[in-house]
Amino acid sequence: MKNLKKSTHIHTYLIEVKGLVQGVGFRPFIYRLAIEHGLKGWVKNTNKNVLVCINTNETTLKRFIKEIQSKSPPASDIISINHTKTKSEIFSDFRIIASSDISDEITEVSPDIAVCDDCLEDMKIQEHRISYPFLNCTNCGPRFTIIRDLPYDRANTTMSGFTMCETCRSEYYDAGDRRFHAQPVACNNCGPEYELIIQDNHIRGINKILKQTANLIDTGKIVAIKGQGGFHLACNALNEEAVDRLRKSKYREGKPFAVMFRDVESIKKYALLNSIEEQEIILWRRPIVILKAKKSLAYPVSSGLKTIGCMLPYMPFHYQLFELLKTPVIVLTSGNLSDEPIIIDNKSAVKILRPITDAVLIYNRDIYNRTDDSVVMVVNETPRMLRRSRGYVPNPIRLKFDVNGILATGAELVNCFCLGKGNYAILSQHIGDLKNFETYTFYTESIDHFQKIFRMKAELIAHDMHPDYLSTKWAIEAGLKKTAIQHHHAHIASAMAEHGLDEKVIGVSFDGTGYGDDDNIWGGEFLISDLNDYSRYTHFEYKPMPGGDMVTYEPWRMAVSYLYSIYGEDFLDFKLPFLRNIDKEKLRIVVQMLGDKLNSPLTSGAGRLFDAIAALLNICTQSEFHAEAPMRLESAIIHGIKDSYPFSTGKTIGFSDTFKSVLDDIRKGTSEGIISAKFHNTIIKVVEKTVNSIRQETGLKKVILSGGTFQNRYLLANLEPALRNFGFDVYAHSLIPCNDGGIALGQLAIAAKRRESEESEE
Ligand code: ZN
Ligand code: ZN
Ligand code: FE
Repeated sequence: MKNLKKSTHIHTYLIEVKGLVQGVGFRPFIYRLAIEHGLKGWVKNTNKNVLVCINTNETTLKRFIKEIQSKSPPASDIISINHTKTKSEIFSDFRIIASSDISDEITEVSPDIAVCDDCLEDMKIQEHRISYPFLNCTNCGPRFTIIRDLPYDRANTTMSGFTMCETCRSEYYDAGDRRFHAQPVACNNCGPEYELIIQDNHIRGINKILKQTANLIDTGKIVAIKGQGGFHLACNALNEEAVDRLRKSKYREGKPFAVMFRDVESIKKYALLNSIEEQEIILWRRPIVILKAKKSLAYPVSSGLKTIGCMLPYMPFHYQLFELLKTPVIVLTSGNLSDEPIIIDNKSAVKILRPITDAVLIYNRDIYNRTDDSVVMVVNETPRMLRRSRGYVPNPIRLKFDVNGILATGAELVNCFCLGKGNYAILSQHIGDLKNFETYTFYTESIDHFQKIFRMKAELIAHDMHPDYLSTKWAIEAGLKKTAIQHHHAHIASAMAEHGLDEKVIGVSFDGTGYGDDDNIWGGEFLISDLNDYSRYTHFEYKPMPGGDMVTYEPWRMAVSYLYSIYGEDFLDFKLPFLRNIDKEKLRIVVQMLGDKLNSPLTSGAGRLFDAIAALLNICTQSEFHAEAPMRLESAIIHGIKDSYPFSTGKTIGFSDTFKSVLDDIRKGTSEGIISAKFHNTIIKVVEKTVNSIRQETGLKKVILSGGTFQNRYLLANLEPALRNFGFDVYAHSLIPCNDGGIALGQLAIAAKRRESEESEE
């Protein structure tokens, strides 16, 4: 009786909700929930949290908090809800009060959210939004791409130049409306507009634009379309000529193009889609999901690879376009030339994309933060991030230790940087190859944007050990305290950080290149590692790379390097098919380089071994895009093969016996698909054997798999269960990329731990 009395007594409670709760429709959600419960008080955003103040009793409070947790908007992510009794105050209604900017502490910024079903419906029924392509609500629309600063209010976004009309204004201030405090709220009368430029014709009016655009694409033309995070180039993915032309004009020889399908049903006609893949592809984040092809699109879409990168519409315009398009699928690739960053501004689009397209579609709202489409694959029923950008950035990775004030500058070829704020690691969007000048500018600008948006000033810089990486040079020029981190140690630490591990583990780090602490190029590494330090247990044996970086364009050089190391010049008489494609003079020079040990840095890179096998099988002797040879080698695999090849272990792991057996198989006429499967199985055996030895010696049983080589589905799909069968706990990536796009997180974690141990020494 006493308790009951206590729980019905009315108090004033202050509830603090932390996590991703801004820009995701959280305040209107709280408002509606409060009204449902008949509560009075207020809700507000600060740049630290969402605060709710109510008059209620303990029983209702508990029920209210429970429902905040269970009914929260899809893009929100609550980390904690705390409540306290506060100074008694009596409220007469429930209201949303203005944001207050109270500190430098972080409030999360939402990634962009695909248009919701309610908004798609409103495009058909709301008078002022009939066919309006920039409609949005508290549950959907652009976020990160338009945010310049916090708190997330219209004035701090690129919508600031658009004045709301009376109707939008009344919705914005009406607590019962779906667009109550939806910052980018807009309609046909007041919001951004598209403009289609065909040669010198400027076409306005959404209906005319849609008709023309659909017609252009259906008749085999190429259109540049301004998207959420940058421009896309679009054409009919079933029209070989159009796709081929697009490929040539982009200077992107063989790299697969992503496609957008009308709907899930159309995807199922062309690709295999399991239930987890389906969940990923319909997610509000709308990534590109790599699927196994079932029926082919125009050949040049994926140039012979057996997978297709598929996504679904996510902007209102995409839906509108598919209503008119005859084709169920379009190529939608980033609007840039080869390795440059995706174009975001109208001027550059007109200048650079108009000459290579038939029309350019722009709109008059700026993109502030550039984002590419994100890319995910599903392996062993787990989504695996391959490129993390639109829809994911800037969601933080939550760590158990303090990373505040640390900036990790990432690697070079697939760069992302990472910022530490409190216990949060905020990984930047995919930046790209820093060697490209425009990309480097994008990199430095984004570092500035992030420091500003997240109110963080770097005090400690973590960077790769590679002296020539531009991210290392940036770190040196910053003139701050810094710490250099070995590439593969960072890979392992990134997976540890993702999984909240802070202990000694077995690190298996396979990739193409990373600077080693013996000045050689590493990439087939077995480390014993924690977040502070590592030791190198063993690695793939070193092989010379004749011509240095040239091997990444000409994988045949690695095949020659392996063969030369086993047979000397005798291999030239083996009549190997792949050698027929090689320029005789080039081959002579390469053999001479190997003989004289000239211009041939040493590598233990797994990527180089895959290159060598792919070239030896004549699957890929020249590479047109990054990691083409390993991708084609994987694509060639015939499934269901259990055999593998011999290899040697000792101080290092040797593959001479592997090559000898591969040559035997080639001579016997064994198919390349079987050889490829046996080779992949060999790598799995190598890992099994080595981690078992490490466990025997050290007792460690947690195995981390990281590095770009684990983008190989076959390898990951088979290795994870194989190691689990041996009783290992296996940790591979899911939320962040296993490639160099995830490395900055590892750098950040290592730098933080080093700082911690330094401080405890003092
Ligand atoms: Zn909506
Ligand atoms: Zn309006
Ligand atoms: Fe790497």
